[in-house]
Amino acid sequence: MQREETAVLVVGGSLVGLSAAMFLAKQRVPTVLVEQHLGSSPHPRAMGYTPRTLELFRALGLDLPQAPAGFRLRRVRVERLAGRWFDEVPWTPSRERGPEMEVSPSRGAAIAQDRLEPLLRHKALSLGADLRLGTTLERFEQDAHGVTAWLRRHDGHESTVRAAYLIAADGARSPIREALGITRSGRGHIHTVRSVLFRAPLEQYLESGISQFEIDQPELRAFLTTYGDGRWLLMFKDDLERDAPAQLRCVRQAIGRDDVPIELITTGRWELGALVADRFCAGRSFLAGDAAHALPPTRGGFGANTGIHDVHNLAWKLAHVLSGQSTPALLETYEAERRPVAWGRLLQTFARPDYAAVAQGIAEGVAILDETAIEFGELYRSSAVLGAGPELPAAARPEVWAGQPGTRAPHVWVHRGTERCSTLDLFAPGWTLVTADARWAAAAQVAKGALELRVVQLGVDVLPEASVAVAFGLSASGAALVRPDGYIAWRALDVPGDAARVLGVALAQVASTR
Ligand SMILES: Cc1cc2nc3c(=O)[nH]c(=O)nc-3n(C[C@H](O)[C@H](O)[C@H](O)COP(=O)(O)OP(=O)(O)OC[C@H]3O[C@@H](n4cnc5c(N)ncnc54)[C@H](O)[C@@H]3O)c2cc1C
Repeated sequence: MQREETAVLVVGGSLVGLSAAMFLAKQRVPTVLVEQHLGSSPHPRAMGYTPRTLELFRALGLDLPQAPAGFRLRRVRVERLAGRWFDEVPWTPSRERGPEMEVSPSRGAAIAQDRLEPLLRHKALSLGADLRLGTTLERFEQDAHGVTAWLRRHDGHESTVRAAYLIAADGARSPIREALGITRSGRGHIHTVRSVLFRAPLEQYLESGISQFEIDQPELRAFLTTYGDGRWLLMFKDDLERDAPAQLRCVRQAIGRDDVPIELITTGRWELGALVADRFCAGRSFLAGDAAHALPPTRGGFGANTGIHDVHNLAWKLAHVLSGQSTPALLETYEAERRPVAWGRLLQTFARPDYAAVAQGIAEGVAILDETAIEFGELYRSSAVLGAGPELPAAARPEVWAGQPGTRAPHVWVHRGTERCSTLDLFAPGWTLVTADARWAAAAQVAKGALELRVVQLGVDVLPEASVAVAFGLSASGAALVRPDGYIAWRALDVPGDAARVLGVALAQVASTR
């Protein structure tokens, strides 16, 4: 049997696995991805991608068409699409919403999963990842030095791959998680629902900017939405098997018109649940995406987006450990940082009106957080951050954090030479020290050791359009150390006499260099 070697084996070639392959390949980590299917599912699931996800894709040079400024996913209860429309239910009640501010260079995007996946595949391939569609992981074993995986191609060809690390992006049922014996906790199974995907010219009903409809009729309770490309999804709130004529009848009933041509495309059956894995890592295997946290579809885009953010967190850590810059202790921070995020999002799902009826008390007493706080202000507490204590809240808006270590470094527009860019564009692939004080440059030179550390001197290397010092909470002589994933790892309020030593100690701790 053919045997190959790679640094990371990713199992699952949907949104999260493909994102992992892109982020790893961008860091020049040899990566093999296997996906049992030959292409995308004909029934797309996800279609809403959040601004943070777009920021991460933008950093790879993958610019997706973005939603208009101020876009909000709106949902209304209706009798039928062409009938009476009732109340609109906001995802985040307006009293919980903070001010509209430009906190990111990116906005969200609406693209059906089966249109996005080919773009991700193309990007992953162009960055050097080895994608193998139609290839199933049959079984695997791990030891102290790596993981051995047995693969079977759709034509029956068998091979083994030896990898230093394994990422399980193999979905909510995750055979890898099950094989590792990792249990899950949470609200559990909510219900099983069926859907029908159809094509119909119904664009006129989208003119008000509302794209999600709760069909509320005594004989039909369903959810209707569109993928924005002529395809629509009718999601029943039951698990009944309907034949094609019955599906067509229900679609017509939801629309409320007989004169519209309808093409049935396919159907789906979905188990909606909310479960977070009790561990995100076992030995050399890491869970990501739905394998780590199955969250029901929400207007917050907590499903695929959370998984994409997982693998962005993991990719630079694997790159650092594989290159020998960091010790494997850095990898322990993946679970420490991402599991609380998954839990927080699970609780936010059930604290909100859309899921309150099925919460079964799991989010009792949980305050609804501002969307921007969830998207851009979740706090990481781990050994890869200094100064994020237990007294701090789990999430807050970026202007409230003002450069708090453990949070995403704020976005401010700056000018670098003739280019206008975001502070976010200054960070990857290595570490970055942001300061206005020239004395930190000499300290960084000594402190960096084998790490890649750049100093960005405000007012010299970049000319900010607004105060970076205020956004990052820096005094004139302070400095913020930013990780390769754009999170602030440490901050100094002043230049100490022994700046090189102080910076070196901080860097060694947060980068796990010894
Ligand atoms: C109707 C619906 C709408 C949704 N809308 C949104 C949305 O708008 N935004 C959002 O963020 N989320 C949304 N979600 C959730 C989102 O679809 C999931 O969170 C997301 O697809 C999870 O991605 P994943 O890569 O972790 O897992 P999956 O998409 O489940 O992919 C796992 C992959 O692993 C492969 N695989 C499994 N085992 C093996 C094996 N042994 N060998 C090889 N391959 C294997 C599978 O074939 C599959 O392709 C929605 C979900 C539903 C049901």
